[in-house]
Amino acid sequence: MRVVRTIADLRETLHPLRSGLVGFVPTMGALHEGHLSLVYAARETCNTVVMSIFVNPTQFNDPADLAAYTRDESRDLELASTAGVDIVFMPEVEEMYPEGFSTVVHVSGPLTTVLEGASRGTKHFDGMATIVTKLFNAVMPDRAYFGAKDAQQSVVVRQLIRDLGLPIELVVCPTSRDADGLARSSRNARLSPEERERALTIPAVLLGIRDAWRSGVRDVASLHDNGLAQLKNAGIVPEYLAFVDPIRLEAVETVTPPTLVLIAAKVGATRLIDNVLLDDEHV
Ligand code: AMP
Repeated sequence: MRVVRTIADLRETLHPLRSGLVGFVPTMGALHEGHLSLVYAARETCNTVVMSIFVNPTQFNDPADLAAYTRDESRDLELASTAGVDIVFMPEVEEMYPEGFSTVVHVSGPLTTVLEGASRGTKHFDGMATIVTKLFNAVMPDRAYFGAKDAQQSVVVRQLIRDLGLPIELVVCPTSRDADGLARSSRNARLSPEERERALTIPAVLLGIRDAWRSGVRDVASLHDNGLAQLKNAGIVPEYLAFVDPIRLEAVETVTPPTLVLIAAKVGATRLIDNVLLDDEHV
């Protein structure tokens, strides 16, 4: 595995490899099995797998959250290498945002203003869209791998790829979970054992909603109110429990598959997100 830190070095390294398919897995490091599941998916069909590790400052609305973000270079490199990454792109902040940097990639409309956009501010998606575009330009991948856990992120990236006419196939991989059902996340490490126990209510509520839907419940209001009550009873502070159509992210009143159900909630000081897709394939 090769580690490169500049865009110029990355381009030079990739140049002789372009006759085969290049797969790209963007991450912010603090790697876990969820990230590695994207690598395994890329490995299946791509000749070269590139992973970026970059904690993007512009997508954090809370400086404390940015400061608390786990950074462990040698552990990440070890995991990436074992998973089968060929090239790790690990730039410094100055490489991605040189002095005088003044361009923002802004995906407008409801895709970036609802849900995470409403909770974290639209700057979050501006930061994400800008860095993803820069990374796409640097790597020029054939396929880019994103996780379903960050559902809105992949919807925004799909829009960006379409609008900019980028020749990149977006591959969205299923959410990887711990054995107890908690969606894997770098943030889980910040949970105390007691908080982690309480956090399990998040996937439990989502699965409860899926079960209720499977048994015929269609009314979003009742599913929503029950779910919210369960979260609050577990001492979790919900930011949203939303039922939306998975393409436009518009709220729905009746569950008509496909419907995406998303939760953002705080367990103690840690903000977690998770979602489940209700569609005919997952009945
Ligand atoms: P992050 O490092 O948190 O920015 O995540 C990098 C990529 O890994 C994003 O596409 C995430 O959606 C994906 N990812 C994070 N956690 C998981 C998970 N539990 N399962 C699948 N993909 C994930």
